[in-house]
Amino acid sequence: MKTYGILIDGKWQPSSSGKTFDSINPSSEKSIGKFQQGNEKDVDRAVAAAKKAYESWRLMPPTERADILLEAALILQRDKTHYGELVSIEMGKQLKEGLSDVQEAIDTFKYFHGEGRRMFGHTTTSELQNKAAYTIRIPIGVCGLITPWNFPVAIPSWKLGPALVCGNTVVFKPSSDTPLNAIELVKVLEKAGIPKGVINLVTGPGSTVGKRLVEHPDVRMISFTGSKATGEWITKNAGVKKIGLELGSKNPIIVMDDANLDLAVEGTVWAAFGTTGQRCTAASRVIVHKKIQKAFEKKLVAAAQKLKIGNALTHEIGPLVNKRAQDKVQNYVDIGKKQKAKLLCGGKRGHGLFYPPTIFTEVTPKMTIAQEEIFGPVTAIMPVNNLTEAIKVANSVDYGLSSSIFTQDINNAMTAIRDLDFGITYINSSTIGSEVHLPFGGTKGTGNGTREAGWAGVEEFSENKTVYIDYSGKLQKAQMKDSGPRKK
Ligand code: NAP
Repeated sequence: MKTYGILIDGKWQPSSSGKTFDSINPSSEKSIGKFQQGNEKDVDRAVAAAKKAYESWRLMPPTERADILLEAALILQRDKTHYGELVSIEMGKQLKEGLSDVQEAIDTFKYFHGEGRRMFGHTTTSELQNKAAYTIRIPIGVCGLITPWNFPVAIPSWKLGPALVCGNTVVFKPSSDTPLNAIELVKVLEKAGIPKGVINLVTGPGSTVGKRLVEHPDVRMISFTGSKATGEWITKNAGVKKIGLELGSKNPIIVMDDANLDLAVEGTVWAAFGTTGQRCTAASRVIVHKKIQKAFEKKLVAAAQKLKIGNALTHEIGPLVNKRAQDKVQNYVDIGKKQKAKLLCGGKRGHGLFYPPTIFTEVTPKMTIAQEEIFGPVTAIMPVNNLTEAIKVANSVDYGLSSSIFTQDINNAMTAIRDLDFGITYINSSTIGSEVHLPFGGTKGTGNGTREAGWAGVEEFSENKTVYIDYSGKLQKAQMKDSGPRKK
């Protein structure tokens, strides 16, 4: 069994803890390697290395930093099958999705390669004569990147791409469920030419490695994707530093009585059961017009029962990521039954870590399964009478990441775009499937207002610097000119 190191100042090495942990293939429940159980000392050394490397990295022209990202994209592209299989093996999503996880990283690195030649500031006027005013984007410093397991390549790339092109150095702490994918991605960036110390990677528990990173005084920004509970803890403990939070959600699909029903069913199956429901944008609520409820339910159950469940490399629906996740899903299903939601299919754990697509109906807005993120292949049909009620139900949760409506009526679609309190709204499409050149993130409990990807990624990982150049040869003072009494 191979043992992997942590990366500090360009050197892969063991943790000073002397301890390791295993990463498990959830399809087979067998170990795929041993990983360092990093500790606070490792984080301190990694931050010191990043701080040192920052001094020269920030001075490298952004176009040159960007070229390294392009090279990394090309390496991933060349060996996409290898990296895609690794995603499926370690995380458990079907191979097509494993490959698309890698494709997202390829696209992201290519996009941020382009940003090396943009990173626009503003040029504006000055209120004083012979004075110029404009803004530039400057790096933040050492950034701590903390990521979950469900997109083990794509999500790290969403953070690494903009962080690096903007001139920051990083300490990356990946999920303890998917350390191998993180290490392989960082190795790609090393091959592409990242100088030592610019990326440091420390594996190990969130409660020690993550915690130290969050609290470290030399870390100027934490970019976190994960659960709301951890996001709230970070908010309370990070001190004065920039924080980007991308948290959970409870995403709705609205199906109106004028919808193309087959399209709505296909979109719901993809959003509710793709990635075994383990997406932050998964549709765990389907708000359906009562007029088409029965027909929709029949088609949805039939489609869900056709899905092939098994080893992620060869089936459409892979396992849940670990036993804890499977217990959590089963617990929510039991609560749903107790609260008198009607079970249409699924509802009982399979062998190993598998769980069948599960559909409840007659779910009301206050039920636990209509409010809390389950993060498994479970969806709740919620019948409504009209669009106003549908939007009210959709908005009646603490989260606000992704939403969707199936309708052929432009008035319904435009009303939904205006009134759904979510960071993303799809018309006649699933709640999942974001594109990397557009901002991604949510309202309410899904985050703190930051957005990742696209130009928003540059805004997130850089600061604005305002520049004034006075060429009048005298000390001009803003706001000190007497404009006299206002003429009537
Ligand atoms: P999690 O338990 O919050 O863990 C996320 C990361 O935080 C892991 O690397 C974890 O390390 C680390 N961590 C745990 N406690 C920490 C602490 N006190 N300080 C610093 N870091 C700490 O979430 P998860 O179960 O991995 O991910 C699933 C969640 O992510 C879901 O809620 C999902 O909706 C959300 N998500 C959101 C988005 C989005 O863009 N909005 C995208 C994907 C997923 P360990 O692994 O070592 O515990």
